[in-house]
Amino acid sequence: MFNRRKFIKATALSAGLLAIDKTSIADAIPSPSNRNANLPIVISTWDFGIAANADAWKVLSNGGKALDAVEQGVWVPEADEKNQSVGYGGLPDRDGHVTLDACIMDELGNCGAVLALEHIKHPISVARKVMEKTPHVMLAGDGALQFALEQGFKKENLLRPASEKAWKEWLKTAKYEPVMNIENKLYEKAAPQKLPGNQYNHDTIGMLAIDSKGNISGACTTSGMAYKLHGRIGDSPIIGAGLYVDNEVGGATSTGVGEEVVRNVGSFLVVELMRQGYTPEAACKEAVMRIIKKKPETAKNIQVGFLAINKKGEYGAYAIQQGFSYAVCNAEKQDLLIKGKSYYPTAP
Ligand code: ASP
Repeated sequence: MFNRRKFIKATALSAGLLAIDKTSIADAIPSPSNRNANLPIVISTWDFGIAANADAWKVLSNGGKALDAVEQGVWVPEADEKNQSVGYGGLPDRDGHVTLDACIMDELGNCGAVLALEHIKHPISVARKVMEKTPHVMLAGDGALQFALEQGFKKENLLRPASEKAWKEWLKTAKYEPVMNIENKLYEKAAPQKLPGNQYNHDTIGMLAIDSKGNISGACTTSGMAYKLHGRIGDSPIIGAGLYVDNEVGGATSTGVGEEVVRNVGSFLVVELMRQGYTPEAACKEAVMRIIKKKPETAKNIQVGFLAINKKGEYGAYAIQQGFSYAVCNAEKQDLLIKGKSYYPTAP
């Protein structure tokens, strides 16, 4: 019979042997002649990206790897109880479960993801373990939880009082009905301009970093759409949709109504457009335009934003609606917040 524990151990052992990195920090810093002034750099979605970038920067500025930087960076919103759209304290699904989606991808095209993971504060780290300790890319639901516990992660209650209160309030009006596109209706109700600090009922952290060696990695983590159907998965843990990295070209990530991103394999599209010569912003804009062209009526009332970086460390973003922000951190500036351009000049 297949022995799950043995299987994980065996693959972990061989991965460990292969993963011995003999490169010292000094080797990781390119010589002045080939140094790209933009690097290292980290960018991430939304205002909460500033605090996340600051932790990623601690890794990058010490000559660390982009992969470690993105993992450590997104830990910040994942652990922040006040952040109701990522990790601990996230808003639950309509049954009251906080289910988390996350994925991570490195410069070699290795990737790992967890889907609808419950009870674990740092889904990004479980995604990294999936990448490094198993031959798989994705683990979902109970299997993902079982794996996390086997790997030593602590089981916790992620539903914090503020989110529980909000959910109970929501239940009063939005009775339990599996309505298609309820997320879009929720979004209409929660018009961004009426909410302080861009706090929509959903917002993901997507982070992209290039280290001083020029290697690119990315991470994406979320509690997904508030009050989603139990078991719903968005774009965030789907490689190619919520996140994509190609070390020859660049990386991209997304936030917003995940269904529309999945339909267009958004982040992969952005990276492929950059490969064809589009700037990061132009590539993000084209991906947004695909969504709008396919479903113009839906697009009027939803938000989707893409954020991208190319191999040179040039970055850009584009969103359907106004209000998308992203944070940038490099040697020049550690807390830069940029308003992303958008197709619709005003929020719905
Ligand atoms: N993209 C996420 C999802 O669809 C939500 C968000 O970014 O706001 O689950």
